[in-house]
Amino acid sequence: MNIILLGPPGAGKGTQARKLVEERGMVQLSTGDMLRAARTSGTDMGNKVAAIMDAGELVTDEIVIGLIEEQLTTTTAPGGFIFDGFPRTLGQADALGELLAKVGQTLDTVVEMAVDDDALVKRISGRFTCGSCGEVYHSETKRPAKEDACDECGENNFKHRADDNEVSLRVRLLEYYKKTSPLIGYYYAKDLLQSINGLDTMDGVAASISKALDG
Ligand code: AMP
Repeated sequence: MNIILLGPPGAGKGTQARKLVEERGMVQLSTGDMLRAARTSGTDMGNKVAAIMDAGELVTDEIVIGLIEEQLTTTTAPGGFIFDGFPRTLGQADALGELLAKVGQTLDTVVEMAVDDDALVKRISGRFTCGSCGEVYHSETKRPAKEDACDECGENNFKHRADDNEVSLRVRLLEYYKKTSPLIGYYYAKDLLQSINGLDTMDGVAASISKALDG
């Protein structure tokens, strides 16, 4: 089963994708994670996208479609793929359909995680992650049990994303409404869209996603 998790920045796509990886053996394809990895390893592409990402703008379709194509043609995923943060434009959505057809796969469902904008701003401004295992925390709602150790892997390697600040979040939200939200209509018209309440608790959202996938 191949699915898209669709929603604005801070909707919880990454957190829920990680749960699906653990529980269903699916493979998470996050273009945001791939771009951050390219920056960390200092590739030409990573250097090119750094300023764009920090400002909260979208990188070109060509770059992210290339990243997804590489993964789809080299990775096997018996449990299916979760597209997290991709597609973000109508051009990317068309390209994804073509790439999946090329590797003999289809898209099974698109789960829209609906959240309100005030909640997003709050969520994003307190967000930090473990740089070693990727576990996501929040300064108010989900602190690690010990200040200096990740609950999951025990490392003391907490990171705050450079683009998780209020100025860049406003740009990311605008990019979402201008370029990504049309995908809701696009996938509705393809009869693939299911909307869930992304403001529920983490377990509540996970249960809604499971229902969308199995129901
Ligand atoms: P994310 O981790 O999904 O929030 O992505 C972080 C940043 O990476 C975004 O603000 C964009 O600058 C860039 N990015 C990630 N995925 C895409 C995409 N599908 N299209 C364009 N830019 C992307």
